[in-house]
Amino acid sequence: MSDDERRMRELCLNHCVYYKPGKDEELACLGFLVIKEMIEEGRSLDLAERWQPAGAEVERMLAKELCPRCPFNPDDCDYILKEGDAAPCGGFVALSGLIQARCITVRDAGDVIERIC
Ligand code: SF4
Repeated sequence: MSDDERRMRELCLNHCVYYKPGKDEELACLGFLVIKEMIEEGRSLDLAERWQPAGAEVERMLAKELCPRCPFNPDDCDYILKEGDAAPCGGFVALSGLIQARCITVRDAGDVIERIC
Protein backbone atom coordinates (compact mmCIF):
# COMPACT_ATOMS: atom_id res chain seq x y z
CA MET A 1 0.00 0.00 0.00
CA SER A 2 1.38 3.40 -0.99
CA ASP A 3 1.62 6.37 1.40
CA ASP A 4 -1.33 8.03 -0.36
CA GLU A 5 -3.42 4.85 0.00
CA ARG A 6 -2.53 4.64 3.67
CA ARG A 7 -3.56 8.29 4.15
CA MET A 8 -6.82 7.65 2.32
CA ARG A 9 -7.65 4.70 4.58
CA GLU A 10 -7.00 6.99 7.53
CA LEU A 11 -9.87 9.04 6.17
CA CYS A 12 -12.14 5.96 6.40
CA LEU A 13 -10.91 5.12 9.89
CA ASN A 14 -11.47 8.68 11.12
CA HIS A 15 -14.83 9.33 9.51
CA CYS A 16 -16.72 6.21 8.50
CA VAL A 17 -18.96 4.31 10.91
CA TYR A 18 -19.30 1.54 8.31
CA TYR A 19 -15.60 0.99 7.58
CA LYS A 20 -14.19 -2.39 8.57
CA PRO A 21 -10.38 -2.45 8.14
CA GLY A 22 -9.23 -5.34 6.00
CA LYS A 23 -12.68 -6.08 4.55
CA ASP A 24 -13.21 -5.31 0.86
CA GLU A 25 -10.52 -2.60 0.78
CA GLU A 26 -11.16 -2.24 -2.95
CA LEU A 27 -14.67 -0.87 -2.36
CA ALA A 28 -15.00 2.88 -2.08
CA CYS A 29 -17.85 5.35 -1.89
CA LEU A 30 -17.92 8.28 -4.26
CA GLY A 31 -16.93 10.72 -1.50
CA PHE A 32 -13.73 8.71 -0.97
CA LEU A 33 -13.05 8.65 -4.72
CA VAL A 34 -13.55 12.42 -5.05
CA ILE A 35 -11.12 13.16 -2.21
CA LYS A 36 -8.64 10.63 -3.62
CA GLU A 37 -8.79 12.36 -7.01
CA MET A 38 -8.19 15.74 -5.37
CA ILE A 39 -5.15 14.37 -3.53
CA GLU A 40 -3.79 12.86 -6.74
CA GLU A 41 -4.26 16.26 -8.43
CA GLY A 42 -1.92 17.68 -5.80
CA ARG A 43 -4.36 19.34 -3.44
CA SER A 44 -3.13 19.50 0.11
CA LEU A 45 -6.00 18.15 2.24
CA ASP A 46 -5.51 17.11 5.83
CA LEU A 47 -6.89 13.58 5.96
CA ALA A 48 -5.71 12.95 9.51
CA GLU A 49 -8.06 15.70 10.72
CA ARG A 50 -11.36 14.43 12.11
CA TRP A 51 -13.69 16.57 10.05
CA GLN A 52 -17.07 17.22 11.56
CA PRO A 53 -20.15 16.78 9.40
CA ALA A 54 -21.28 20.09 7.96
CA GLY A 55 -24.65 21.72 8.45
CA ALA A 56 -27.92 20.83 6.75
CA GLU A 57 -27.36 23.04 3.70
CA VAL A 58 -24.04 21.44 2.71
CA GLU A 59 -25.48 18.00 3.49
CA ARG A 60 -28.43 18.68 1.19
CA MET A 61 -26.14 19.82 -1.63
CA LEU A 62 -23.88 16.79 -1.30
CA ALA A 63 -26.83 14.41 -1.11
CA LYS A 64 -27.96 15.91 -4.42
CA GLU A 65 -24.58 16.06 -6.19
CA LEU A 66 -22.69 13.09 -4.78
CA CYS A 67 -24.99 10.30 -3.67
CA PRO A 68 -26.98 9.76 -6.90
CA ARG A 69 -23.74 8.80 -8.67
CA CYS A 70 -22.20 6.73 -5.88
CA PRO A 71 -21.65 3.02 -6.58
CA PHE A 72 -23.14 2.19 -3.15
CA ASN A 73 -26.44 3.89 -3.94
CA PRO A 74 -29.05 2.64 -3.27
CA ASP A 75 -28.69 -0.92 -2.04
CA ASP A 76 -25.47 -0.65 -0.03
CA CYS A 77 -25.98 2.70 1.64
CA ASP A 78 -27.97 2.96 4.89
CA TYR A 79 -28.03 6.75 4.62
CA ILE A 80 -29.96 6.43 1.35
CA LEU A 81 -32.03 3.41 2.34
CA LYS A 82 -33.15 5.12 5.58
CA GLU A 83 -33.65 8.47 3.84
CA GLY A 84 -31.14 10.33 6.00
CA ASP A 85 -31.98 8.57 9.29
CA ALA A 86 -28.65 6.70 9.28
CA ALA A 87 -25.15 8.18 9.25
CA PRO A 88 -23.67 9.03 5.86
CA CYS A 89 -20.43 7.32 4.85
CA GLY A 90 -16.99 8.64 5.77
CA GLY A 91 -16.33 10.08 2.31
CA PHE A 92 -19.52 12.12 2.58
CA VAL A 93 -18.67 13.27 6.14
CA ALA A 94 -15.08 14.21 5.25
CA LEU A 95 -16.13 16.03 2.08
CA SER A 96 -18.81 17.99 3.94
CA GLY A 97 -16.29 18.88 6.67
CA LEU A 98 -13.75 20.04 4.09
CA ILE A 99 -16.43 22.20 2.47
CA GLN A 100 -17.57 23.61 5.81
CA ALA A 101 -13.95 24.44 6.68
CA ARG A 102 -13.60 26.14 3.25
CA CYS A 103 -10.73 23.88 2.19
CA ILE A 104 -12.78 23.07 -0.92
CA THR A 105 -16.08 24.22 -2.39
CA VAL A 106 -19.17 22.31 -3.46
CA ARG A 107 -18.24 23.36 -6.98
CA ASP A 108 -14.76 21.78 -6.63
CA ALA A 109 -16.42 18.52 -5.61
CA GLY A 110 -18.98 18.81 -8.42
CA ASP A 111 -16.22 19.34 -11.01
CA VAL A 112 -14.40 16.21 -9.85
CA ILE A 113 -17.65 14.20 -9.83
CA GLU A 114 -18.29 15.26 -13.44
CA ARG A 115 -14.79 14.19 -14.41
CA ILE A 116 -14.61 10.78 -12.75
CA CYS A 117 -18.20 9.51 -13.10
S1 SF4 B 1 -23.71 8.58 1.80
FE1 SF4 B 1 -24.06 6.64 0.68
S2 SF4 B 1 -24.61 7.21 -1.42
FE2 SF4 B 1 -23.70 9.03 -0.42
S3 SF4 B 1 -21.52 8.95 -0.99
FE3 SF4 B 1 -21.74 7.88 0.97
S4 SF4 B 1 -22.04 5.69 0.48
FE4 SF4 B 1 -22.39 6.90 -1.37
